Amino acid sequence: MTSQRTRNRLIQRLREEGIESEQVLDVMASTPRHLFLDEALSVRAYEDTSLPIGYGQTISQPYIVARMTELLLSRAKSLHRVLEVGTGSGYQTAILARLVDQLYSVERIGPLLDKARRRLRELELYNVEVKLSSGGFGWPEKGPFDAILAAAAPASIPAELKQQLAPNGVLVIPVGSDSQYLHLVTRREDSDQFDVERLEAVRFVPLLGGVVR
Ligand code: SAH
Repeated sequence: MTSQRTRNRLIQRLREEGIESEQVLDVMASTPRHLFLDEALSVRAYEDTSLPIGYGQTISQPYIVARMTELLLSRAKSLHRVLEVGTGSGYQTAILARLVDQLYSVERIGPLLDKARRRLRELELYNVEVKLSSGGFGWPEKGPFDAILAAAAPASIPAELKQQLAPNGVLVIPVGSDSQYLHLVTRREDSDQFDVERLEAVRFVPLLGGVVR
């Protein structure tokens, strides 16, 4: 159930759904998603669905991981320093870590972060720094970032995250409560101006404040 053949079938499906980046498809084909789930659910790891990871949170659907990663690759000018908001299981983190130079990831639920940290170490992904976020948004001390990817949805685009973008930096983020849309925010070069594009409808868990230890 966790064989390379099963994984390849998922990659084929992602292609059919419109994912074109060979870089993204290669990394997803060689990243073991089943290691990011509890054993009871690991047989379903290569289905194209989100699945529970505890604490009311979910591992993102492979299609959406691929789509958001592809957006970053195609729209960011460089990917030296990248921030992820919402580490969760660490699966999207593992995918990004293999495509960017230095990755920072924040998560507000301590036990999820501990598990994710262990998995990233097992996979020998050493270019990732994670931290338990104290409810504030982002990680200003490590910015500015060439790209920011958020895996949890605020009601509106947080100004704090926009401010942490480098010139030409891009932010990919789901926004909304009842109905959510993926947004792509680009910081203009040499200015405090941002271009915002609304993309497709999505479903993410909400972006929340406060830390769970
Ligand atoms: N890409 C992850 C998605 C996890 S779900 C995966 O595939 O596993 C989104 C995560 O965002 C949850 O773990 C949730 O706890 C976290 N989150 C929500 N609000 C947050 C905030 N303000 N700061 C950091 N993490 C947050």
